[in-house]
Amino acid sequence: MNQQIKPFKKVLVANRGEIAIRVFRALNELGIKTVSIYSKEDKYSIFRSKADESYQLNPEKGPIDAYLDVDTIIDIALSCGADAIHPGYGFLSENPDFVNACERNGIVFIGPSAELMNAMGDKISSKQMAIKADVPIIPGVDYAIHDAETVVKVADEIGYPVMLKASNGGGGRGMRIVNRREDMLKEFEEAKAESKKAFGDDKIFIEKYLRGPKHIEVQILGDNYGNIVHLYDRDCSVQRRHQKVVEYAPAFSIPDNTRQLIFESSIRLAKEVGYRNAGTLEFLVDADNNAYFIEMNPRIQVEHTVSEMITGIDIVQAQILVAEGYPLDSEEIAIPNQESVHCTGYSIQTRVTTEDPMNNFLPDTGTISVYRTGSGNGIRLDGGNAHTGGKILPYYDSLLVKAISHDRTFEGAVRKSLRAMKEMRIRGVKTNIPFLINVLNHEVFKSGKCYTTFIEDTPELFN
Ligand code: ADP
Repeated sequence: MNQQIKPFKKVLVANRGEIAIRVFRALNELGIKTVSIYSKEDKYSIFRSKADESYQLNPEKGPIDAYLDVDTIIDIALSCGADAIHPGYGFLSENPDFVNACERNGIVFIGPSAELMNAMGDKISSKQMAIKADVPIIPGVDYAIHDAETVVKVADEIGYPVMLKASNGGGGRGMRIVNRREDMLKEFEEAKAESKKAFGDDKIFIEKYLRGPKHIEVQILGDNYGNIVHLYDRDCSVQRRHQKVVEYAPAFSIPDNTRQLIFESSIRLAKEVGYRNAGTLEFLVDADNNAYFIEMNPRIQVEHTVSEMITGIDIVQAQILVAEGYPLDSEEIAIPNQESVHCTGYSIQTRVTTEDPMNNFLPDTGTISVYRTGSGNGIRLDGGNAHTGGKILPYYDSLLVKAISHDRTFEGAVRKSLRAMKEMRIRGVKTNIPFLINVLNHEVFKSGKCYTTFIEDTPELFN
């Protein structure tokens, strides 16, 4: 193995909020200097002051587009002498043009290659890769459907209910359930128009709609030399509108043989595509415990924390070390093989957001007047702008702080998460804490039997 190690002196984080802080911390511990970029709107957000240097993005661009402004970000990285860029999640993290721009300018992109992002970047091509790697997928088609006649014919073959999906959709958007043939044409036309507007093209495919499956995903880590390991699974079935609310690891309520199949499928697919760095393979598991691959996320995820807690592996540090060229079996990363990844205990992450559960989860904005955390034994807090005086801006996602518990048993982790939620005092903005407490207290959650429509099927969570 011809190893090429290029240690970083300085890394720019092309992101904001909690994930920017999370990456700065990993860099700090590795003795690497940190650079923050921020929009004009984020001038007073705390994340930028957690970096060694910070630079304002183009104020003309607006709060979101500033973080998508590849040219300015590359210019800042070059002028401050950053060796590498960590993209976090969202924004440019899955954009192959950004990866190429980094490479053209001699900056290391901390993540997989542009080719891989192209190959796995949309849901159709990741389905095609899964078929090649003999990984089970949901019954449906692995190509975009453009005309009404075909969509009706294919839906008849699959059998209703079906799901129309935008190949480039993400963040829980771009999916439609169609229950009846008579609704198909209208839904199909709307899906195409919506996809074009939101995701830039009208590539729509169709698959069977599974009723109430579990969402199980596998964290993987690969180096530049073809070595891949998994860091066990996460159960992310507690969702609202296809977006995750509470996640935990490991996925203990799935039978062992299904979990093994999911682990083996994940490693096989990751090897087939030559994956490197951290990534996640997502699966749905139906009531009969059949597992189907749905997509791959080539980046760090919000819920990576629970995998860190059960394995003791700092995934963000591993990402950085892999990008520097260290193999998994190096002293620095210390994962010589799959057997060396141990799973200890249970971990639960609750996403505390500034959303009002009593008002259809409407995001709230304003200044936090009181912020007292619920921490203590077995609780880790990964926060963004959560502090007294912190301003919650309307432009960005409403995640305030992630509370992550770890305990020897799942019941113990539930108790710790509940205790932390009850200790938290956040005033000045509304939060979803009362709702999270109801989820954690619910028998279905405690038994590990949550499924993706649990929240919409359980009105008492809103009491
Ligand atoms: P995104 O890229 O927007 O996150 P995913 O493909 O990961 O979308 O799916 C998100 C969620 O949508 C899943 O966890 C699941 O709850 C639901 N979902 C996706 N496909 C199906 C399906 N075929 N049947 C039932 N639910 C589905």
